[in-house]
Amino acid sequence: MTYDYDAPESQKLFDRAQQVTPGGVNSPVRAFRGVGGTPRFMASAKGAYLTDADGREYVDLVCSWGPMILGHAHPAVLEAASAALAHGTSFGTPTEGEVALAEEIVARIAPVDQVRLVSSGTEATMSAIRLARGFTGRSKVVKFAGCYHGHVDALLAAAGSGVATLALPDTPGVTGTQTGDTIVLRYNDLDAVRAAFAEHGDAIACVITEAAAGNMGVVPPQPGFNEAVRDLCHVNGALYISDEVMTGFRASRTGWFGIDSVVPDLMTFGKVMGGGFPAAAFGGRADVMAQLAPAGPVYQAGTLSGNPVATAAGLATLRLCTSDLYERLDETARTVAALASEALAKAGVAHQVQFAGTMFSVFFTPAPVNDYDAAKRQNTAQFKAFFHAMLAQGVYLPPSAFEAWFVSDAHDAAAVDRIAAALPAAARAAAAV
Ligand code: PLP
Repeated sequence: MTYDYDAPESQKLFDRAQQVTPGGVNSPVRAFRGVGGTPRFMASAKGAYLTDADGREYVDLVCSWGPMILGHAHPAVLEAASAALAHGTSFGTPTEGEVALAEEIVARIAPVDQVRLVSSGTEATMSAIRLARGFTGRSKVVKFAGCYHGHVDALLAAAGSGVATLALPDTPGVTGTQTGDTIVLRYNDLDAVRAAFAEHGDAIACVITEAAAGNMGVVPPQPGFNEAVRDLCHVNGALYISDEVMTGFRASRTGWFGIDSVVPDLMTFGKVMGGGFPAAAFGGRADVMAQLAPAGPVYQAGTLSGNPVATAAGLATLRLCTSDLYERLDETARTVAALASEALAKAGVAHQVQFAGTMFSVFFTPAPVNDYDAAKRQNTAQFKAFFHAMLAQGVYLPPSAFEAWFVSDAHDAAAVDRIAAALPAAARAAAAV
């Protein structure tokens, strides 16, 4: 594929980056391998817009993969972070800011009695699983294909053959021993969960699931799925971990929990709650959290956990995430999704728009997507053409067909108009594939 525009400054930076960083990026999807072309090196961001090293402006539909729910460089977040900065950047001691952020999360998310702050979503899920194993004294973990929980060794696992077989490592560097206690099942397949419990019931420590899947594109759980999985966990003495790193404070004011009301034993959070800084958390039932060091025997720690600048930015962000904001966000998401769908339909491109609260994504496939196999059946060549046509017109979509699209409160009518103007040509480019 050729591209009818270039990005010389980004290309120069990418060339430099590739000398000193594997693949030129610090997180793989940023390298544009899924779509080809030169990854854009961003120089600044404000509101709904990103500006790259070549001075080109884009309406941002990635929002840093979720966190920037208020838009970039929101004055209240900048002010809170600057005020914290002025008092020092890290103390390695407890601080009031951590207490305030924990109080905000506990007050907002009913199933969370206690919470522990960490620095990334990966740390949150890794720690939640360790805690579940420590609490139950069991070893096995069930996850679903297509759900991503960060790059935790035990969770970088692909489904083996058969319904409830043990998982295989998904990447070199993860050993069969590390995934040997992981069971990977088809998402939205309750029979598979029943079969796994029938075969391994007394060895399963927990089931971890994205509260609503967003990492294979947006695939919400079928009605009743989360509840049934949670109930199977409880009947079998296992814990149910709801990973809300993406959906938390995003899908609704209280995340996906606010939509399906299924009470988990443990939950994980990240993204929005860090206000654009590295902050994440896991929390849940008081009796389970009481097992965590120093209250209990399960070890977990972090030099920068509860960092004062990150907690200040996170708290400032959450305080602005009011019910009104989610109403606006929902409207913007529905508008952008409808515009995309209209343009694609007009160009004759088969597609599905799927929502999880205010999150959504567009699949280039004719049939509804309920699991990872169905997500993988989409026409990624059409997505690539669509992506590059949008980029050329100044709209920055996630550079992969398997990612959620994110809007922010800063996506006003002008930003939506720019997206609307770009969509017809992009839809035609997809149709031409
Ligand atoms: N869990 C979910 C559902 C995620 O979407 C992600 C990241 O995208 C993670 C965990 C890992 O978070 P982090 O990238 O902060 O380690």
